[in-house]
Order: sequence, then C-alpha cells, then structure tokens
Amino acid sequence: MAGGVACELCVGEGGVPVARGARWRVVRVDDADFPAFYRVVWNAHVAELSDLTPADRALCLDAVVAVERVLREQLRPTKINLASLGNVVPHLHWHVIARFDWDSRFPQPIWAPPQRRPDPPPVRRLAVGLDALDAAMRSALATLA
Ligand SMILES: [Zn+2]
Repeated sequence: MAGGVACELCVGEGGVPVARGARWRVVRVDDADFPAFYRVVWNAHVAELSDLTPADRALCLDAVVAVERVLREQLRPTKINLASLGNVVPHLHWHVIARFDWDSRFPQPIWAPPQRRPDPPPVRRLAVGLDALDAAMRSALATLA
C-alpha cells in the first residue's frame, strides 16, 4: 500500500460484523447520527467494481440490494442512499444508508455539515432496534452465501 500503511478493510472488519459470505461481508457502522448505516465490503482487496468478474459483480450488487431491501422493509426510510467512494480507502465497499427527512443532514449527503439535531436521538426513532435489524440482515443474506 502507498506509504506502507495497511488497508484498513484488509486488516479490520470495517464496522460491527453482521453477516459474511465467502467473498463479501456486511458490517454495521457505529454512527449515532445514522444508526441504520451498513457497509457491503468485498473481502478481497480490489479497488473498483469493474475489477470483479461479471458473476462476482452480480454477487456484490445482490448483497447491496439485499441490505437495501431489509432497510426499506424494516424502517420505511424516506430514501436509501448508496455510495461507493473509496477515495480514502481504495478497497471496494458500498455504503447503504437509511435516510429520513428528520435526520441531521437530510436532504444533504451524510457527510455534509449537520442541519438539525434530532430529538429524540436517531436510534430511538427507528421502527425496530438494531439487534432486530441485524438479525433481519443475516436472514436476508443467508441465501447469498
Ligand atoms: Zn484492502
């Protein structure tokens, strides 16, 4: 790696482990402002979606869609945000984030300056708890392997 710094998604999970297949994993990001924030991380160190074979690319996107569907079904968010940036960590991963019209940055990206401070806090506004949400993710992703 550049500068001899190890890739953080090669040495670490990238969040709270939720589900794992042979080639991908899903983690939940511990973010008080955005509690329903998951990442789909490709296990191998590749930089871009187009580095994957067509079959692997389909598998990666199937995992992203499975996470998105669970968020929609469980939380009825205002919008789902998908992002694959990798400018800081050039290891293929997708951010899958449930957005709500009451969240601290809506309608701006989650990385924008805050516009409001939700009260009660976000995790208490979700329709289900994070343990139940993680369990629903595991169940939905179990068919992907
Ligand atoms: Zn990596």
